[in-house]
Amino acid sequence: MLTLELLDTGMCVVPAPLVMRGSAWRQMDCHALVGLIRHPRHGLILFDTGYAPRILTATEPWPYRLYRYATPLHLRPELALVNQLAARGITPAEVGHVIISHLHADHLAGLADFPAATMVIAAQALQAGLTLNGVAALQRGYIPALLPRQRVGKALTVPLGHLRGPALPHLGPTHDLFGDGSIRLLALPGHAYGQMGALLQTTDGPVLLAADGAWTSRAIREGRPPARLINLIVDDPRALRATLNKLRAFAKARPDVRIVPCHCPEVFASLGG
Ligand SMILES: [Zn+2]
Ligand SMILES: [Zn+2]
Repeated sequence: MLTLELLDTGMCVVPAPLVMRGSAWRQMDCHALVGLIRHPRHGLILFDTGYAPRILTATEPWPYRLYRYATPLHLRPELALVNQLAARGITPAEVGHVIISHLHADHLAGLADFPAATMVIAAQALQAGLTLNGVAALQRGYIPALLPRQRVGKALTVPLGHLRGPALPHLGPTHDLFGDGSIRLLALPGHAYGQMGALLQTTDGPVLLAADGAWTSRAIREGRPPARLINLIVDDPRALRATLNKLRAFAKARPDVRIVPCHCPEVFASLGG
């Protein structure tokens, strides 16, 4: 049994109708939440690493500076994951594994702060991250400087297209990270190349960390995808919609599972921050 703590690493501000089709026009705070997981045998594990101050230096050069204009950032150094862990008396060396759901900058920026941890990532995501550069990278939400290249060779890669673990209703087969059923990784295609979610067996019940498989809990409840404009920057719009529908069907089939989209305002509000 795991324990899970969700931490806010900062936010960007985006128009609500972009996040969810049919929303009233207003600016929406889009927090980047990460999971701090404690495993009885494998110690500390992170699910994503959120924003970190280095995203500002990484987005200094063109064309990456456009990232800041597209998603205006509201960061505070104390919210950087490494600093939040330090406040809990946790050093970076104590983190054994970092699961990167996908390589978008708001999930990756903190990775370099945990140099000793094993990066767990989908093979497809890693391949895209190593191939894309310049405008092509930016169009996909990647900032290449945030991916520490020296970590790539030691990464634990997950073959998302060939998973053999027990299937979840509607969401398909899984990869049992530690072989004990505590963390099952699964594919959430469409939003970004090789996006993974994770089903955790926690002391508070099962939790599905859904990364950006959906941006909000409401989008899952109501089956509302992002605006069509977002199609320009996602990997596969059709797959994105299919994943949203599968999450919706999964939520109905498994009401015992808490589904956590990483940027959901309801989840953020539940943190009491
Ligand atoms: Zn994303
Ligand atoms: Zn994101």
